[in-house]
Amino acid sequence: MTTDPADTLRQRGIQVTAQRLAVLRAVSSQPHITADAVAEAVRAEIGAISLQSVYDALGVLVAEHLIRRIQPAGSPARFEDRVGDNHHHLICRVCGRVVDIDCAVGSAPCLTASDDNGYEIDEAEVAYWGRCPDCVAQSGRSQRTGPTRTQSRSRQGKSKKKSTHRGQRP
Ligand SMILES: [Zn+2]
Ligand SMILES: [Zn+2]
Repeated sequence: MTTDPADTLRQRGIQVTAQRLAVLRAVSSQPHITADAVAEAVRAEIGAISLQSVYDALGVLVAEHLIRRIQPAGSPARFEDRVGDNHHHLICRVCGRVVDIDCAVGSAPCLTASDDNGYEIDEAEVAYWGRCPDCVAQSGRSQRTGPTRTQSRSRQGKSKKKSTHRGQRP
């Protein structure tokens, strides 16, 4: 099923722009990609693009159900082009790696609510949280000796933790 992304956009009545195409390609090439990473990929492909333009393009594509947005707790939003199959996600608490897992039942809403309170339920968003094999192996190898802390007199506020995405896995 190889459809030209430009045709896909046209079929949905979405104006085809180089930016939207590049954003779509970035999401297709890397499942569960963040907006920041999309911006990076798009810049490499077509040159300068503002983060806002990336968000705009992602918003249009999400609204048209061409891509899906997931937002695991504590993580920036992630985007994928695997849509419509009600698949779920396995998320590593340690490194944040996200992988797809097929729908437990095969179709939405997958899980039956114990009480629907009269709602017409069409989806259950399932996230399985745990530790990925790499992180499990890592914690097994290194004996934890407690973090060494350097005491500093000035109390600094919460230091922003930055997750480094070095070396992208295909
Ligand atoms: Zn992990
Ligand atoms: Zn997924």
